[in-house]
Amino acid sequence: MREVRAAVVNAVNEDYKIEKVYLDDPKTNEVVVRIVASGICHTDEAFRLGHSAYRLPAIFGHEGAGIVEEVGEAVHSINVGDHVVLSYAFCGRCHSCLHGKPATCEDWSVLNVSGRRINGEAIFYKEDRVTPISTLMAQSSFATHTVVSESNVTKIDKSVDLRIVGPLGCGFLTGSGTVFNGFNPEVGSTITVFGTGTVGLAAMMAANVAAAAVIIAVDIHNHRLETAKKLGATHAINSREVNVVEEIRKITGGHGTNYVIDTTGVPVVMRTALEVTAQGGVYAPVAVTDNQFSITPFTDLGVGTKTIKGILMGDAIPQFSIPQLIEFYNQGKFPFDAIIERFDFEQINEAANASNSGEVIKPVIVIDKNYIPKTYIP
Ligand SMILES: [Zn+2]
Ligand SMILES: [Zn+2]
Repeated sequence: MREVRAAVVNAVNEDYKIEKVYLDDPKTNEVVVRIVASGICHTDEAFRLGHSAYRLPAIFGHEGAGIVEEVGEAVHSINVGDHVVLSYAFCGRCHSCLHGKPATCEDWSVLNVSGRRINGEAIFYKEDRVTPISTLMAQSSFATHTVVSESNVTKIDKSVDLRIVGPLGCGFLTGSGTVFNGFNPEVGSTITVFGTGTVGLAAMMAANVAAAAVIIAVDIHNHRLETAKKLGATHAINSREVNVVEEIRKITGGHGTNYVIDTTGVPVVMRTALEVTAQGGVYAPVAVTDNQFSITPFTDLGVGTKTIKGILMGDAIPQFSIPQLIEFYNQGKFPFDAIIERFDFEQINEAANASNSGEVIKPVIVIDKNYIPKTYIP
């Protein structure tokens, strides 16, 4: 075991507390990663604030980027010194994984949200070296170091700034993948995105890359709608100011849009989103929520011929999609860093609050202050 520092959540609604903790040695299929930076995602906050239950104490964080320090004997695709982005874990052997759908891995829950390894062992322990601490997404990137399985890891080019790429492992992957893999829209399609957070904005950037003709952003904050327009939205609607359904019908000649994403999880918004899905269209509610919304099967799905589609992690294979997103970024087509703001590790609670209040869209905490990127991005 090695002594490391991590931001621990000891009880629901408590602040993150940076503590000395112990990190288990890697198994043969695992690697040790020194975390350089990590995004904060709404899912971390949903668990910390008790909107969804999690086994505590826990170390959250699942948008980590860092440098590999040690690899287990059975790891062949990753070497010490590699720069990596961490995403979710998958088994690689089940029916879904073998069909190229690791985001629907049959062991996804056990691997990613049970808080333990698949054999039930913990990876982190409290200072007493006995009390286990839960991991999240088999990653726990709010720590100076972590142990992850080979499947969590995507190797990236060393020229990329590790202080911005962590969120490519969750928020940006989810939003872009929902469009690229979940919808796979025809050129010239129309799409509406409810909510202009990381997932929503990533979906808009992806819709732009995928040559959608109409990309409608819906939110309740004008400043965020301005950001959406800069990142690819062709239309912006403030749902506090106008009737969204009427407005979208006006834009689309009465049809609604071919594709719709809800990232808000608010029941009335989730219902409106189905409303503005065109006949034969596809609607993906992707927010992490236990909230429900009503469906009239005959009107919506029968006569309406609408599809409600469940899409997890953008149905993306991180090892393929993350380098692709970096390529789009380098070409100026996926300017995701525009919505990132950096905080020190010690400011993790301020960073989380700034995200929850909507002041910052994607906070990233920089854990390794000594890291110097090859390409400096101010
Ligand atoms: Zn996330
Ligand atoms: Zn699997």
